[in-house]
Amino acid sequence: MKNIGIDVKYPEETCDDPHCPFHGKISVRGQIFEGVVVSDRAHRTVIVEREIIKYIPKYERYEKRRRKIIAHNPPCINAKVGDKVRIAECRPISKTKSFVVIEKIEEEK
Ligand SMILES: [Zn+2]
Repeated sequence: MKNIGIDVKYPEETCDDPHCPFHGKISVRGQIFEGVVVSDRAHRTVIVEREIIKYIPKYERYEKRRRKIIAHNPPCINAKVGDKVRIAECRPISKTKSFVVIEKIEEEK
């Protein structure tokens, strides 16, 4: 297994996915986010929703914003809807996908 340069819990399973950061050729760099999987319907792809808390100076209040990020879901991690995951930026895998799931933080009960 490859060292991806990020301190995460490495998956116990192996896979032969070329887009897997641990067993494939993809390398991760750039931003790392945490979010909750809201869709796992597409093949080896998940949609992760991230909540951003933004301060609005004009109103002196915080505002919650949601962003959806499409990420690659390697078979060795296999994240499901409701799981809390960590995703990392990588080179674009497809037109809309340039993130990959690197860790399952919490599994949905
Ligand atoms: Zn893998």
